[in-house]
Amino acid sequence: MSIIEVSGLRFSYGPVEVLHGIDLRVDEGEIVAVIGPNGAGKTTLLNVLGGAHRSRSGTIALRGEDVTRASQDSLVRRGLSLVPEGRQMFSSMTVDDNLLLGTYARRREVDADGLREMVFELFPRLRERRDQLAGTLSGGEQQMVAIGRALMSDPSILLLDEPSLGLAPQFVSLIMRTIRRLRDNGRTVVLVEQNAKAALRLADRAYLLELGTVHVTGPARELAQDPRVVAAYLGGG
Ligand code: ATP
Repeated sequence: MSIIEVSGLRFSYGPVEVLHGIDLRVDEGEIVAVIGPNGAGKTTLLNVLGGAHRSRSGTIALRGEDVTRASQDSLVRRGLSLVPEGRQMFSSMTVDDNLLLGTYARRREVDADGLREMVFELFPRLRERRDQLAGTLSGGEQQMVAIGRALMSDPSILLLDEPSLGLAPQFVSLIMRTIRRLRDNGRTVVLVEQNAKAALRLADRAYLLELGTVHVTGPARELAQDPRVVAAYLGGG
């Protein structure tokens, strides 16, 4: 059984449908990348999966249980956590307080101190900057806080929206290495990326989304060789 199973998912902003019947599955312990051009619907799809948007039709099952209409908090309680595009942190709060907010939906169950220690081990720079206001961090550091905050609910599944967006190359590779470490520690990751090359290098399987439909899917290694992907997204290499 797949940990996430999406079938016939449709989503509209007002009258405009932007997801036209998506079928997608995620197996436990894999990294699944969703790539595609601007406006393909990648962010929308991730937001629907994470409970930030409700779909119009279609179904989403989490470990076999229907969660199509579940709220974001209830998904967090079931171990699924979304790191939204643009990081969306509280810039006038400290790193520590932003991290603590991540425990909120599961505050009665999780060991906040232990989880924070785990986040600081992944991102030592955040330990050094724990009392700094989040708004004064660099883009890369803010992305660490955004991922750290999601980890503070101890998720088994992480949904990451464009974690490499706007980051310097050394931060991109740090974030990608961290995602691999999280998977190696047993977590499942769904990664939306414009940076198709980096995403396909990291992922086990991938979906190429175009205009709100799945255009190509398969093992990431195969997509990286697929002429439709290479021509449009990998610049011939
Ligand atoms: P990008 O990589 O540029 O973020 P994307 O693949 O993530 O693109 P989405 O952001 O999901 O694509 O957008 C899909 C479509 O939905 C686009 O046509 C976009 O203009 C539209 N859209 C996104 N958000 C809204 C909104 N809040 N209201 C209306 N239309 C929206």
